[in-house]
Amino acid sequence: MTVAYDYRKRTSYTADAGGKRAAHTVLLEAPFTPSLPFRGYTNRSLYINLSTLEVSEKAVTEQMKEIFVGGRGFGLWYLWHAITPATKWNDPENEIVISPGPLAGNTQYSGSGKSLVVALSPLTGIPIDCNVGGYFGPLMKFSGFDSLEIQGKAAKDVVVVIDGQRGIITIEEAPEEAPDSHIAAELFTHEYASGPEDYRNVSVVSAGAAAEHSRIGCLNFSWWDPKRGAARLKQAGRGGIGTVFRDKKLKALVCRGPKLKADMNQAADFQRTVVVGKRIQKEILDFDDQQNKMRKIGTAHLVEIMDAYDLLPVHNFQYGKHPDIDKIASPVWEKRFTQGIFDGCWYGCHMACSKGADCHVVKTGPYQGHIVTVDGPEYETVAGLGANCGIFDSDWILESNFYCDTYGVDTISFGTACAFAMECYQRGILNKERTGGLELTWGNGEAHLELLHQMARGEGFGVTVGQGVRKMQGLFAERGWGDRQFLTDIGMQVKGLEYSQYQSKESLAQQGGYALTNKGPQHDEAWLIFMDMVNNQIPTFEDKAEALHYFPLFRTWFGLMGLCKLPWNDIEPESNAQEKEPAKVPEHVRNYLELYAGITGKELTSEQLIAQSEGVYNFQRVFNLRMGYGGRQSDWPPYRSVGPVTKEEYESRADRYDKQLRDLIGVDPAGRSVEEKIVLHREWRENRYKMLCDAVYKRRGWTDNAIPTLETLRRFRVDFPFVLEVVKPYLT
Ligand code: SF4
Repeated sequence: MTVAYDYRKRTSYTADAGGKRAAHTVLLEAPFTPSLPFRGYTNRSLYINLSTLEVSEKAVTEQMKEIFVGGRGFGLWYLWHAITPATKWNDPENEIVISPGPLAGNTQYSGSGKSLVVALSPLTGIPIDCNVGGYFGPLMKFSGFDSLEIQGKAAKDVVVVIDGQRGIITIEEAPEEAPDSHIAAELFTHEYASGPEDYRNVSVVSAGAAAEHSRIGCLNFSWWDPKRGAARLKQAGRGGIGTVFRDKKLKALVCRGPKLKADMNQAADFQRTVVVGKRIQKEILDFDDQQNKMRKIGTAHLVEIMDAYDLLPVHNFQYGKHPDIDKIASPVWEKRFTQGIFDGCWYGCHMACSKGADCHVVKTGPYQGHIVTVDGPEYETVAGLGANCGIFDSDWILESNFYCDTYGVDTISFGTACAFAMECYQRGILNKERTGGLELTWGNGEAHLELLHQMARGEGFGVTVGQGVRKMQGLFAERGWGDRQFLTDIGMQVKGLEYSQYQSKESLAQQGGYALTNKGPQHDEAWLIFMDMVNNQIPTFEDKAEALHYFPLFRTWFGLMGLCKLPWNDIEPESNAQEKEPAKVPEHVRNYLELYAGITGKELTSEQLIAQSEGVYNFQRVFNLRMGYGGRQSDWPPYRSVGPVTKEEYESRADRYDKQLRDLIGVDPAGRSVEEKIVLHREWRENRYKMLCDAVYKRRGWTDNAIPTLETLRRFRVDFPFVLEVVKPYLT
């Protein structure tokens, strides 16, 4: 039976919105001329420097549109020119760039409201990019800007307001508002909207108290949910962009855009977008209930599927399933989410998967006793904050999800970092004395939450965990608490970014899908487990390399356009299985080409679509190199993601591993110790990973050391002199 939660019974934080606004000091007021995009582009971007209080406009050139397209491409382009190879994440010149992309903001095709956020990451030291929902990007574009660059650091906490109705940008000191996002989003919406009918035209970007004291801070992008009468949140989670945001003393970015109408992109052929949009809308409405139930459960439908295939991360990725899975599986969330309410994070998204758990009564921390709506949890959050930390309790997951969001902490990085600390505790690398009294045992929800509260207060062991896995590895090894190699093997990070929540031990392609990414191991670039491990569709190294060429580039394209990936393959047409390459969902690829042509007026083939991404992707790889990373060694994964590190892990899948020894490695396991068998596996698995890298680098047009060749850079027109200057020393 579904329980009806009365979403109106929420704790309100807006009683004194007017008084708080009155306490603002306006530091700068700059007029601008609002304009709508033409064929998806406004052709200008906004630059704001918080140190010098400079506000200026830049032209978006034809070359930028041709080569970098939009979204993530624009973010990387601006960031490159803003920083030098010596820049650190907390230097004033580091930028946060927000770009929605040319297709963003259309309301015809489901999943079209995304913003791309790019900055130099505090975790990795290289550019990070995040794809996030909420209304900010589209409202900013409809106010007149394809991109926003924020550089410099304010002296005191400020709010930056882009008012696209009045044509005014202000920078204001905002001393009274709490930075925590569930309050900030609601308060600033009330402060800057002209009244309730205007709430939907306001979006707030914020990061909470813990983003300030950790490296895993996320950004929350809001959208107004008229039914609940609440500001809802979506996260630009990965890589610590929220940390950069608070380091710049940004309390909030606010955009008040014009009232939304159809065709605000001034599409080249609006009717084409309507026709193709109706097609996907019908599919979603017809088939979602039979396929993934995204409209009822969102991505949390994956929990028991991952468990069934031994792919759910349990106890810091040691295991792939757990007997208590039913306690956090999708039927629990289906009941816990309020049903029959529109949960789209942009207008017109019929997938509407941004589910909300209403009436959560907060049980710990500064908001104890408050009644809140929790945005989510999504699959990654259930797996990361739940199974990976041994917490099989939906209430603790909701509590932790709420605090991660409002404190501005990435649920994926926190889940993986906390799981790492818990395994260190299990193995005596940590103890109560070293954690300041916290018992980090598997399943200890209270200790898990206390880490977050400490992070928000900037004290205790929570701050250590908030530095991320790579920093913890270094610290624990330096203090002689654990063996460096073992810490390297079990710490689930590559390039400094924590793994997202899928087991990759039994899928070589997914090992590459994670570790060969530009920004670090995030599933939005390549998710190949089912193709590889379950369906065996890519058996050879060449097949895997082809998949690791196509899918990261195809997924990159969503980030250039301002699109959501979910309506691509979380719903499939009835005839998909009959297609030659069903994993690509070819009919939906054709839809995207149609949508692109409808809005921009430019016809594109599926090959040209991939080539658009390829230029940006290669540019990003060179960017990593410029910052002192990149190269083959940066793509090396922790062994926990490749094979069994410990005796317990081996024994949990002994039949499978013994069979592999016999059938694939050619060694009789009989009479051998587990330790011996682990060594044999490791040699075989690491060698296969090296061979995969060889095949992928070749397919991508890179050298053996993962450097894009001159020919590759020329082919995708990113052979700018300043790019060649970076790569040439590696190519001679
Ligand atoms: S599919 Fe879900 S995440 Fe994507 S745009 Fe729609 S509601 Fe947002």
